[in-house]
Amino acid sequence: MSELKTKAVFFDRDGVILKTIIRNGKPTPAYSKKEFDEKGGFLPNVVEAIETVKKLGYLAILATNQPDIKYGNISQEDFDYVQSKVAKLPFDDIFICFHHPNENCDCRKPKPGMLLSASRKWNIDLSKSFFLGDTENDTEASKLAGCKSILMEASYNTDLEADYRIKNFTDNEGLITILTN
Ligand SMILES: [Mg+2]
Repeated sequence: MSELKTKAVFFDRDGVILKTIIRNGKPTPAYSKKEFDEKGGFLPNVVEAIETVKKLGYLAILATNQPDIKYGNISQEDFDYVQSKVAKLPFDDIFICFHHPNENCDCRKPKPGMLLSASRKWNIDLSKSFFLGDTENDTEASKLAGCKSILMEASYNTDLEADYRIKNFTDNEGLITILTN
């Protein structure tokens, strides 16, 4: 029996879908509902980017590390508030690793666990898939899963190596060129 495999574009959350807040030189998500409403929120044209990906025949899947509840940086209630906004985006699926790094789980990026789980669930050919992220955890997970990496450029990732780079979603032509070549 031949089973036709699908392909996907995996999206990181913070720095790709949501604005980050730089603390001690590192990009971090909002740590409260108030901070999300005042300084966080969505990056421009996120919905259009997800729809573009889907129109080109890819599944759009969120794969994000969210250890900040475990770190005590954000309450469960405020996390749920932020994530409820993200859940309204037209993603086909959402994978979240809530673990603390000390738990040594298989899903926390840079490990490729979330991508491998998604691949099993949706019958995804990872070699024809992309991971769109903003940090080394993303480019590394992408490499380990056998995907191609797309880096969303930011002040904190200029030295990072990736297969492709885009500046933002305001001009989707760059993304379309990468996904159709
Ligand atoms: Mg990120």
